[in-house]
Amino acid sequence: MIKLISLFLSFSFLSLFSFGQTESSKLQITQLTKDFYIYTTWQSFNGVRFPANGMYVLTNNGVLLLDSPWDTTQFQPLLDSILIKHNKNVVMCIATHSHEDRTAGLVYYGTREIKTYTTKQTDSISQIRGEPRAQYLITSDTIFRLGQHEFEVYYAGPGHTTDNVVIWFKKEKILYGGCLIKSTEANDLGNLSDANVVAWPETIHKIQLKCGKPKYVIPGHQSWSNNQSLEHTLMLIEQYQLNEKK
Ligand SMILES: [Zn+2]
Repeated sequence: MIKLISLFLSFSFLSLFSFGQTESSKLQITQLTKDFYIYTTWQSFNGVRFPANGMYVLTNNGVLLLDSPWDTTQFQPLLDSILIKHNKNVVMCIATHSHEDRTAGLVYYGTREIKTYTTKQTDSISQIRGEPRAQYLITSDTIFRLGQHEFEVYYAGPGHTTDNVVIWFKKEKILYGGCLIKSTEANDLGNLSDANVVAWPETIHKIQLKCGKPKYVIPGHQSWSNNQSLEHTLMLIEQYQLNEKK
């Protein structure tokens, strides 16, 4: 009997180990706090492997997913990992702007019995560009409730794109910023192909006014290890504008 148990233990240890390995190479899941988890996938950007963050939130009414994986091979592995880890299904997915590191999985998730959402503004851009679109459209700032968690989809203005929204969990003081907010690890503003750098500072100020001092700020890319990303984004914008004037 003891032998059987040890055999079972070593087997489960091995399978955990190998599962962990495949996971860490393409999909990384990190607990932020309590019901809140950050998932990260990677894509090659300018020849360098670059990470993109999304978040998921456990509720007693299913899992809320914010944005979809950038790595398109990870749509189903993410759902599988969440089910294995928490024994819960994703029931709702909101994409925070029209770029592929946010919206790539919307159509796929729609086929997996997940209610998918973007703002109307995001949908208009995705429609023109022929990119994946959500089933449900948000027409103005909206407070949603899923299970025990409440959050607001908030549009503060243009920045990284004209349509970028943030998700604000007021009670937990968690600001999910997406690509509108740059990590303190970022050295520049990144992809500016659809950006409005002139309007961006005012947009950040409106978020600061609304959210005060968030406990956690989650940027679209790179580290979320501190809550200084709003200030850092303002600094990067200032730096960019100074360089433009030269
Ligand atoms: Zn992005």
